[in-house]
Amino acid sequence: MNIHCRICNSTDLSKFYTIDSNHTLLKCLKCSLVQLPAKQLNELDDNANKESIIQDTFRKTSSQDLNLFTDDKLPKPLQNVLHLIKGDCERLIPLIQSLLNKPNSSFIDIGSGYGQLSFNLKKSNPKLNIHLLETSSERINLGIEGFQPNIDDFTFHHRLLDNKFASEYINYFDISYCFHVLEHVYNIRDFIKNIFTITKKGGSIIIEVPNEDDDLLKLSSNYSKIIRFPAHVSSFNKSTLRYLLESLELGNYDIDFLPVQRYGFYNYIEWLRYNDKRKVTSDDYIARDNPSWIESFWLNEKCKNFTTDSIMMIIKKL
Ligand SMILES: [Zn+2]
Repeated sequence: MNIHCRICNSTDLSKFYTIDSNHTLLKCLKCSLVQLPAKQLNELDDNANKESIIQDTFRKTSSQDLNLFTDDKLPKPLQNVLHLIKGDCERLIPLIQSLLNKPNSSFIDIGSGYGQLSFNLKKSNPKLNIHLLETSSERINLGIEGFQPNIDDFTFHHRLLDNKFASEYINYFDISYCFHVLEHVYNIRDFIKNIFTITKKGGSIIIEVPNEDDDLLKLSSNYSKIIRFPAHVSSFNKSTLRYLLESLELGNYDIDFLPVQRYGFYNYIEWLRYNDKRKVTSDDYIARDNPSWIESFWLNEKCKNFTTDSIMMIIKKL
C-alpha cells in the first residue's frame, strides 16, 4: 500500500530518520513535511495519550530545575513538569492577554493537558469564558486533582477537535490556543480547518510546535532521539506550516511566525558538550533577566535563523 503525505497527498516520500525497528520518519519530497506514517486516526484515551503521561511520570528532571519549584503534594507527572509549566505560563499568559480585546471573551485551550495554562489564565482574567478540550481523561483528572481549580469556572470537553465539535462551536472563540499538540495529530488538515471554523472573525489562533529546523537536532544525536519519539507524528518548520495553511481553503487571514527557544543556553551547551541526557544538569527553562553577551548572541542567532527549538504561529482570522 502506498503511503501518502498528510499535507499534500504525494506518495513521493523518502526515508529520513529511523526511530526504532517499528518507526521510521519519512520526508515528503514535494512539500518537505517530516512525518511518521500512521494508519489510524487519533482516539480518546488512546495509547499515545497513556505513553505521554508515562513519559512525564518518568521524566528525568534535573535537580537544578526541581529545586526551583517543588510541590511534593502534586501527582508525580505534574511534579516533574512544574518548572515547564511556570516558564510557559510566564511567557504565554501576557501574550494571550495582549490579544484579548474584552474581558468576557471566549478562549479555548485545545489539547489542554493538565489544564495548567487555563487554570492560571483564569486567575488574572476572571471574566474570561474558558473551555478546555483534552483527549485524555487521565490527564484532565490529574490536573484537577493536582491544581484544584474551581471546576465550575471552566467548561471541560473530553473530546477530539473533530468536525462534530467544530459544527457545534462555529465562530465561537475569540482565541483558539493549541500548544505543542499539532505534532501529535494524524489528520492535520481537518484539525486546522476545524480550528479556523471555531474561531470568530477578528479572533486569533495561537499554535506552537517543536521546530524541525532546531539546529541542536543536527548537532546532538541523543537530543535528536528524545525529540523524535513515535508520539510526534509530524515535524514542522516555518515553511511546512505555511504550506499546510496555504493548501487549505481557509478564507482571509494574517499570519505571524515567531521563533521560540524554550530550553536555555546552559542546556544547549551541555547537550553539545556531552551528548548525554544523564550529564545535562538542567533544562534551564526559566529565562534569565540579565543574560551574558554570549547567551544573548546565541539566542539572537537562533531567532534570526529560525533554528530555535519551537516555532509559534499567531493567525488573525479576517
Ligand atoms: Zn507532502
